[in-house]
Amino acid sequence: MVLALFMLSCKTEHKNAKHDTTETVSQPKVSKFQHYDSLFMNHSEFIADEFDFPVGKPNAKGYYNAQKFGENYHLGDDWNGTGGGNTDLGDPIYAIGNGYVDFSQDIGGGWGNVIRIIHKFDDRYYESIYAHCDSVMVHAGMFVEKGKQIGTIGTADGQYLAHLHLEVRDSLFMNIGPGYSENTEGYLDPTTFINQY
Ligand SMILES: [Zn+2]
Repeated sequence: MVLALFMLSCKTEHKNAKHDTTETVSQPKVSKFQHYDSLFMNHSEFIADEFDFPVGKPNAKGYYNAQKFGENYHLGDDWNGTGGGNTDLGDPIYAIGNGYVDFSQDIGGGWGNVIRIIHKFDDRYYESIYAHCDSVMVHAGMFVEKGKQIGTIGTADGQYLAHLHLEVRDSLFMNIGPGYSENTEGYLDPTTFINQY
């Protein structure tokens, strides 16, 4: 019921801001870190050296962040085209940094198509998560470079006006999560992170 109150005060273009909490992603832990250590050791050209915004080159040109990290307990950013409505439907989504696509799948619920990229940066690991995609252009097991188009902005099957929900996490392999929470452990402010690096 608490979430319902946030939805009423929500300034975003979400028609229904609820992200399904029932979806989970199977995520083995320790062995996966070793897996990524060797993956990035063998493909060191895909270690991230800097990050950029996931829409509107350069620097999110033509887009605005309709619901910032922390606003209404939002765990990410909501990128919307400045044209409003569904004017950004089908627009490109770019990888925010070099990395490895770990997950690319329609998980339904409030999420729709979700892409997750693992980034090795400064000897640490981060994840970027791109949700509600209209189409996806990458699959699990691919390396990507910063700025590569990985999909298009969508509505999660008509649940929202088109926008990109972007999360950045410094704790890997958590469940897909609720999208909104008072508990921000493991989550970073994507815009702060991108501007910093
Ligand atoms: Zn969102």
